[in-house]
Amino acid sequence: MTLACTVCGGEPLGTYELSMHEEATCASHPVAARCTLCGRPAPDPRAPGWSRWGAAARCPRCALGAIETQEDARGQIPEVRAAMAALGIELTRRVRVTLAGHGPLSVETTGRDGVLGITHQQWGPAGYAAVSIEIAAGLTPIHFGATLAHELGHAWLAERKSGPLPLPLEEGVCEVFAGAWLKKQGTPMATRLRASMEANRDPIYGDGYRMVRAAILHTGIESVLTSVIKTGALPRPGG
Ligand SMILES: [Zn+2]
Ligand SMILES: [Zn+2]
Ligand SMILES: [Zn+2]
Repeated sequence: MTLACTVCGGEPLGTYELSMHEEATCASHPVAARCTLCGRPAPDPRAPGWSRWGAAARCPRCALGAIETQEDARGQIPEVRAAMAALGIELTRRVRVTLAGHGPLSVETTGRDGVLGITHQQWGPAGYAAVSIEIAAGLTPIHFGATLAHELGHAWLAERKSGPLPLPLEEGVCEVFAGAWLKKQGTPMATRLRASMEANRDPIYGDGYRMVRAAILHTGIESVLTSVIKTGALPRPGG
């Protein structure tokens, strides 16, 4: 396979880097910005095809086929719901999925910034209920699918858990669902996005993901999910 550099169009000589789409860019070009979704470097983020995504930059490759409208989303949602159902993650009450604006969402309730999706939940007489899911507009189909799988995880937990879960546990379980969806895609982008989740240094998302995955490797997913729902904690070692 011959690689063509995203900046000069030539075959990269010497060192080059690969984006999450496995597009090559010579390491010798200046880097003024990076695509916030795939990491592709840009000498000038105002170059043709590059667009703004919130306060960040988005490359032409990520913009191609991005989920921009509710109609685009409707084309993707059934596949993600079906893939999650095949993993046993099925909602009894269907939750509406809507697209938010371009760029990462900020979550006022937790003060967290930079998330790609939010599941709005309500605590009522019958326990928790997921009310709606919002996903940032303009994501690649792979980012959209992983985000939706994660948010469907929150909705699924809301239907079943008996009280609030510690944040690393709640987010860790949902990251595991996103990781499982990504694994089924088998594309370079999906593989790389999954690897970046595994390497995430965030104490809630990254540590939570590694903690829940370790428990699944130890006792299996069924026993982990049963324990989380019934006790609000991971299975006790040896128990
Ligand atoms: Zn080049
Ligand atoms: Zn990109
Ligand atoms: Zn989450």
